[in-house]
Amino acid sequence: VGEVITLKDLNKAAAESFPLCAKHLFRKMKEDHHLRHEGRRQLQLYLKGIGLALEEAMLFWKTEFCKKIPAEKFEKEYAYAVRHAYGKEGKRVDYTPHTCMKCIAANPGNGEHHGCPFKTFGEEGLRAALSGMSIKAAKVNEIVEKAKGQHYQLACGMTFEATHEGKTIDAGVQHPNQYFQESRKALG
Ligand code: SF4
Repeated sequence: VGEVITLKDLNKAAAESFPLCAKHLFRKMKEDHHLRHEGRRQLQLYLKGIGLALEEAMLFWKTEFCKKIPAEKFEKEYAYAVRHAYGKEGKRVDYTPHTCMKCIAANPGNGEHHGCPFKTFGEEGLRAALSGMSIKAAKVNEIVEKAKGQHYQLACGMTFEATHEGKTIDAGVQHPNQYFQESRKALG
């Protein structure tokens, strides 16, 4: 349900409505034309969750990866996982996108970008990311303090509020895809 997101909408949707976890993975994919396994998985399932069709998703991953690697290598090493995320390979399970709890439980290592940024970014990184979303300095401080207190989902909810003209997610942020849906509703 909800609107249909296509590849050409993705940059705009990412800027307007992705939660920080998905924004970060999406940005890294565009910058590095690569993401390590866990990050790919988190972003693949998230994009499926916002309604990006398999064909569109495949085009996104292929376009980005193939800025660095030949198409044959993409087909051999990465295309399977994209289809797998959509339940078209292996056990054909329609895998559900990661919840916030699952993202928060992750421990990304060096060079990995999955997980929840409110936990993983560290104070300076988080400050920079929030400032980059045009959030006022005082609000950035409040959000950073919340994150330092390990209230990651509350910090994420405050970020939503600061970037959606004071509108809130009343049920609290539980899922990156719920954040996206609430954002689309709020932006109307
Ligand atoms: Fe993503 Fe949830 Fe963390 Fe927000 S609280 S950044 S939606 S994992």
